[in-house]
Amino acid sequence: MKIIKYPRQMHAFAEQQKAANRTIGFVPTMGYLHEGHLSLIESASAQSDVVIVSIFVNPLQFGPKEDLKRYPRDLGRDKKLLRNFDIAALFVPTVGQMYPEKPLTFVEVPDLGQKLCGRTRPGHFRGVATVVNKFFNIVAPDLAFFGEKDFQQLTIIKRMVADLNLPVRIVGCPTVREPDGVAMSSRNAYLLKEERAQAVALYQTLRLAAAEIRHGIKQVAALKQRLRRFLRGFPKVRLDYLEVVDPVSLEPKSSLKGESLIAVAAYLGQTRLIDNCLVGRR
Ligand code: AMP
Repeated sequence: MKIIKYPRQMHAFAEQQKAANRTIGFVPTMGYLHEGHLSLIESASAQSDVVIVSIFVNPLQFGPKEDLKRYPRDLGRDKKLLRNFDIAALFVPTVGQMYPEKPLTFVEVPDLGQKLCGRTRPGHFRGVATVVNKFFNIVAPDLAFFGEKDFQQLTIIKRMVADLNLPVRIVGCPTVREPDGVAMSSRNAYLLKEERAQAVALYQTLRLAAAEIRHGIKQVAALKQRLRRFLRGFPKVRLDYLEVVDPVSLEPKSSLKGESLIAVAAYLGQTRLIDNCLVGRR
């Protein structure tokens, strides 16, 4: 595994791979790796000739009051985990290398980025779309792998790629969970014991939603009411949003007909967690 720090060097490496007719599978991350990240790497290995992973905590996607400074980082541990995989290059640029000057150019998908998490985190998805675009230009991947755990992010990246004719195929990968169902996340490391115990509320809410739908509930309003009542059993959980939306447009739905995304975000103490599930999948 080659460790590359400089965008120019990363691009040269990618060009060499292309010249040798090898397809590049790219997995962008913010590090502090867990099995969710590793599952993306496994998919990338299975579907491409060479795998490139990036670790970069992107300041552009954090709001001024968010957790940029305390976001967990442990590059030594991450490198060790990555050594178990066949990875051609690990790209670990510094903030100064990614943003040598204060950026004046941004990529934004406002219609999708202002909904759901975008309401609580204004500018977040603009930061994500911009850095992913930069990474695509540097790494030139054929395929790029993103988790369904961050469903809104995946939807936005897919739309950005389509709208801008970017020559990359986006592959969505299923959410990897802890044994009790909690979606794996680097931010789970923040949770105090009691908060961690109640974090399962998000997953259980989604499970309950799926069961209610199987039992024939048709109206979103009735479903939301039922789920909100269930969440009251978790006093540590402060709900940010619980929405039922169309998975492509992210527009709220009133009926559960067709495919729907059930998305939930909640605070446990200072920590904001998200989770989602697709129902009525075509
Ligand atoms: P992050 O390091 O949190 O920016 O995540 C990097 C990539 O890993 C994103 O595409 C995430 O959607 C994905 N990811 C994070 N958590 C999980 C999970 N539990 N299961 C699957 N993918 C995940």
